[in-house]
Formats: sequence, structure tokens, C-alpha cells
Amino acid sequence: MANSASSERGAASLLHGLRCGLGMDVHAFAKGRKLILGGVEIPHEVGLDGHSDADALAHAVSDALLGAARAGDIGKLFPDTDPAYKDADSLRLLSEVAEHIRSLGFAILDVDAVLAAQAPKLSPYRDQMRENLACAMAIPVENVGVKATTTEHLGFVGREEGICAYATCLVMKE
Ligand code: MG
Repeated sequence: MANSASSERGAASLLHGLRCGLGMDVHAFAKGRKLILGGVEIPHEVGLDGHSDADALAHAVSDALLGAARAGDIGKLFPDTDPAYKDADSLRLLSEVAEHIRSLGFAILDVDAVLAAQAPKLSPYRDQMRENLACAMAIPVENVGVKATTTEHLGFVGREEGICAYATCLVMKE
């Protein structure tokens, strides 16, 4: 028991300052809109609906960072009732989020994300998305992961009604 408590204390001191964050975002498909994910414009017959450019991947990563810093969420930072964010470039918003959490004393160590989409096929665009997200957050591309999956035709994603993005991140309070 004593050994287990002391190894827990050791781990706690090792992890001191590390925080993880989780973000998730969904946007519905709509005609006449662009499909932009991780800042990449992807050819498709429909795009994603939203007040900004509806980049669900950039939004999920932004919320993961804000969650790790316990600094609210992008809805609070960039309200969809504010005309300033109409059709906003979400990579620019992600840059602002990264700067904001740095100003709170956090270093961004690592980010991983997964996109759930039945269509179109997203894997050809993964590396460009990683580059764009890394550049927006000013971190090395090696520290940004992006994956894509279908949902085997199940649920709203499987019915091709929209796209879902999840992201996690690791940050450290300096
Ligand atoms: Mg969103």
C-alpha cells in the first residue's frame, strides 16, 4: 500500500503541469457550401453548414486546447451571433486560441484528432490538414495527428448528414 501511494506521488510530480484536453464538433452538410476541414478545401457535392467556414476539425482542436487550459470553449470566445465571425477562417481562430492559451502560460505539446465521415474519402488530405493545423498552432507537424474513419453507414455520419470531429491534446503549464 505504502509503495503504491509513493509511486502515485512520484507519478503526480512527474505529471505536474501536464493537462489533457478533449474537443468534439459536428456540422451538417448543406448545399452551396464549401467543405473545409483542417483548412483544406475538399471537392464534394455538399459542404458544411455553419456561421464560420464550419471547419469541424479546426473547431474540435480549438476546443481541446481551451479545455486543457480550462479556458472555456470556442462558442464563448467566438460567438456565432457575432457578425465578425461570419464565414471566418477557422484556422485563424485556431491560431488565436493557441496564442490565447500560451498567454495563460500553457505550452502545446501534442494534438491528435479523428474525423468521422462516410463520404468523401478524407485520407488523401490528412497530411495537408496536419501541416495546416501545426502551422496555425505554431507547433511541429510531428506533434499533430489526423485520422479519418467512416461509421460503417451507422448514425448521422453514416447517413451522410454531416461530419464529426474529435480531438485530444496535451499541454503543459509553464
Ligand atoms: Mg463548429
